Order: sequence, then C-alpha cells, then structure tokens
Amino acid sequence: MPIFWHRRDLRASDNRGLAAAADDADGVVPAFVFDPDVLEHGSDARVRFMLDSLAELQESYRERGSDLVLTRGDPAEVLPALAAGVDAGTVHWNADYSGLAQDRDDRVEAALDGAGIDTETHHDAVLHEPGTIRTNAGEPYSVYTYFWKKWRDREKPEPFEAPDGTNLADASALATDALADSFAGAFDLDDALRAELPSIEQLGFEKPDADVQDGGTAAARDRLDAFCESAIFEYEEQREYPAKDGSSRLSPHLRFGTIGLREVYEATEAAMAEAERRDEAVRGADGDDELGPAQESVRTFQSQLAWREFYTQVLYFNPEIVTANYKSYEAPIDWRNDDDELAAWKAGETGYPIVDAGMRQLREEAWMHNRVRMIVASFLTKDLLWDWRAGYDHFRDRLVDHDTANDNGGWQWAASTGTDAQPYFRIFNPVTQGERYDPDAEYIREYVPELRGLDAAEIHGWVEKSDAERAELDVDYPDPIVDHGERRERALAMYKRARGED
Ligand code: FAD
Repeated sequence: MPIFWHRRDLRASDNRGLAAAADDADGVVPAFVFDPDVLEHGSDARVRFMLDSLAELQESYRERGSDLVLTRGDPAEVLPALAAGVDAGTVHWNADYSGLAQDRDDRVEAALDGAGIDTETHHDAVLHEPGTIRTNAGEPYSVYTYFWKKWRDREKPEPFEAPDGTNLADASALATDALADSFAGAFDLDDALRAELPSIEQLGFEKPDADVQDGGTAAARDRLDAFCESAIFEYEEQREYPAKDGSSRLSPHLRFGTIGLREVYEATEAAMAEAERRDEAVRGADGDDELGPAQESVRTFQSQLAWREFYTQVLYFNPEIVTANYKSYEAPIDWRNDDDELAAWKAGETGYPIVDAGMRQLREEAWMHNRVRMIVASFLTKDLLWDWRAGYDHFRDRLVDHDTANDNGGWQWAASTGTDAQPYFRIFNPVTQGERYDPDAEYIREYVPELRGLDAAEIHGWVEKSDAERAELDVDYPDPIVDHGERRERALAMYKRARGED
C-alpha cells in the first residue's frame, strides 16, 4: 500500500500525485500531517480554511470506504512510522516549490530512504513547473511578459480523475491496533488525531475574527462555476474596481489546493469558447482575427494564473528573496520605519480613505482586493517609507490566501525591489487611485463606516481639505497622518541614495 501525503493539495480530484499513487497499487493510504513547524507560520484565518478543507476531504474519502489518516508531528518521524504501520514501499507527494518546504522534503526523503522506503515527487501545483519555461538562452525568466507568451502557447495537461473506492485503502485496514502501535513507538501519538480533526484551539489558534470564505473543493467549484458563467467575460475591466465582484476569489483555494489547476484552466477554455460566441454575436462572424472584448477578458484571467506561476518560479530559483531584495541597489535602502505610522497603517487609521478601507477589508475578511493591495503596499513603502518586509509580515499574519511566492512578488513589485517591479519613481497617489478605482466611494463606505454620511467628492477630497474644512464635516475619522507630496519627494531621494545617485 503506497502512501499519498497531502500538503498544499487538499483535494482528491485533479490531483496528479494522488492519481499516480492510486495507479501504482491496490489501495493508496491518504495522509495529512499537522507539522508544528508549518503551523508556526499559520494564521487563525488560514488554519480555519485548512480545517474546513480537511473535513471535507476526510468525508470524501469516507464516502468511498476509505479514510484520511491524520497525524501530528515532524513528518520526518511520522511518515516512516506510518509507512511501517501500513507496510508501504513508497510515499508519494506533490512538490512544494518554496525553499523552506524543499528543505523539509529533503529531510523527509532522507528519513524514508534510511527506512528503506521510496519516495516519488509529482508536479501538480502549477501547469508548467519551474524550469520548464526558460529564455532561449536557457535561463529562468525574470520578465513576466516573455514568460507569459511561452506559458500561454504551451499545451496544457488535462485534469486527473479522483481515485475511486477500489484504488483506496479500506478504512478498516487503517483502524488497526498494529498501526497505532507503530506510531506510538515513533512519536507521541494523540490517538484522537488519527480518527478525527483537532479543533482550531487544539492546534494553538483562535477562531478567526474575520469572516473567512469557505474552504473545500465544493466551495472552490461553486466559485469557479459562478465566475466562469459571467464575471470572467468582463474581467478585464471589472477586476480593477474593488466595489465590484469582478475577480474569482479563488486565491485561498489555489493556496490550499482545494481545486486543481488543470480543472481551473479547463473551465477557462470552456469560457473562451463561449466568449468567442459572445464576441461574434456583437461584431459578426467574419470580424478580424483580433480577440473580442470577452475573449480578451478570459485571456487576461488566464494571464493572472501565469503571474502565479511566474512568481512560483522566481521564488524557486531565488529562495533567498523571502527576506532579501531581489534587485540589489548600490547601497541599502534607508527606510524610515516609524512605529506609530506602521500601527496606523495596520489599524486602517491613516486618514487616507482608500488605504484604510483596504486595511479594514483585510481585518474583516482576511482578504483584500488586488488593486487595493497595490495601493496599500505602495503607501506603506513609498509614503510611510517602511521596509516592505514589515508589510509582508502583516499580510502573512492576516491573509487567508498568503502564499510566499505571490505575497513576496506583490510586495517586492510595490517596493521596486522585485523582479519586473514597478520602477522606483512610479509612486501611486492614493487620492487619485481612490478617485479612479472607487469613483463613487462605494468600497470606501463599505469598510470605513465613519465616512458613510459623506458624498464621494467629500470622501476623495478628505486628504486635501484644510483642518477647518475637515472639522466642519464633523466625522470621527483621522486626519491624514502624512503629506503625500512631501513623502513622495522623500521616497525619491531615498531610492536615489540607494542607487548611488546622491
Ligand atoms: P483573480 O483576479 O480572480 O485571479 C485568479 C488567480 O490568479 C488568483 O487567485 C491568484 O492565484 C492569481 N493571481 C492574480 N493576480 C496575481 C498576482 N498579481 N500575482 C500572482 N498571482 C496572481 N496573491 C496570493 O495568492 N497570495 C498572496 O499572498 C498575495 N499577496 C499579495 C500582496 C501584494 C502586496 C499584492 C500587490 C498582491 C498579492 N497577491 C497575492 C496577488 C493578488 O492580489 C491576489 O492573487 C488576488 O487579489 C486574489 O484574488 P482573486 O483570487 O479574486 O484573483
């Protein structure tokens, strides 16, 4: 009986490693390990999402007469013990491309090897694994546009079938004393854990304050189906407006692998066919070869999936960027790092309405709209002159979709330290960003209730009003904590010094 070790792939369908393990023998043992080292980097919201997803996965195995073996401890100890208990010759898993995960997997592989057990790693989390798309000179890409063109034109794999009951270990074979005994020798087994999920408190987390979206494959499919039925055809335009429900909100599902990338991509291809019909209906079948607006929108959505794979390969080839700048300047950037300003940013109390709305959405939903992530990240680094790592840490603590590669990519883009990043002199003006992307201030009013009584012009004008004008509006909302024009000049000077141009 081979073992399949679930990690960032909490699903049975379209799971390459699981399909391979099930192919290889008479009954695969699905397992999940609560690893204290991984949990240390967890957050209330993510652990809640993970437990939801695990509960659904366990149920789906039980419906097929099998079970999900749940254990706790260092996988380098737990997995050899489990392998001995079920007499497994091979442990399969899907690759996790981040540096920390790779170090752990090397240790686990060595421990299993020492116990005479084989390991097989599969590529599942992306459509094109790191290293397979390279420049013509054979280098990994550091510029997205060229990566995207090759990614787009490459043939995509088909989804994998979920194993049926006949390919899974029988539940009764997993509930044996012998199995419990073999665990007991290797580590401190909490018996209850093998049968049912621990509560969030048992794992050392609290029920999240935020209203976190549902985990699990059914919830992921509902999102994908709903998105591909309508919003995807207007994604190109709508995705920029945080008040609209214009994006898929699949990010936590892709983070935890509750849905497979091949399944997502297949749905987008079906949407592309529908988009072609829609575009033809508008301009006639013999229009030119250019993509119509609906097709462009689907394409743009596919290009976001490619951004995710671009950042995955950037991190894979440059694991040090988790904490180091990707792009080196002549001298270290001389961040200002004022603690009170950081606290105001985290609390959504900066007096810049669009920034505060974003930070409060993060607090309330453990998620934030992409346009607003860019605005708050620019504000932290280029208005508050705070080191991007402080922003990254806060996002890691809060986001339900926190993913090392994407989060790091987003922060280093905003801070002009990343690969293919925003040039240092491009500094978002948070007032005009708010006016452009939330013209009616609907998004701001939703998350900043103090401003609900004001009209859009008053809200967007808040920053530029005089103290007396703000006082006259009589709302309990902070004055802007910094002057954008002045901070913009300081930011430019700070980057120029780092570039050695001072
Ligand atoms: P959609 O617009 O529906 O896009 C579909 C999927 O494409 C997303 O779920 C995501 O997997 C991928 N994607 C979209 N935009 C990007 C992007 N710019 N970079 C990489 N992948 C992308 N995304 C995360 O998944 N985890 C993070 O921790 C994260 N941190 C970010 C931090 C900053 C400072 C910034 C600017 C962006 C960050 N992003 C992160 C990227 C992006 O904001 C989110 O992926 C997106 O908002 C998720 O919403 P969605 O699923 O509705 O996206």
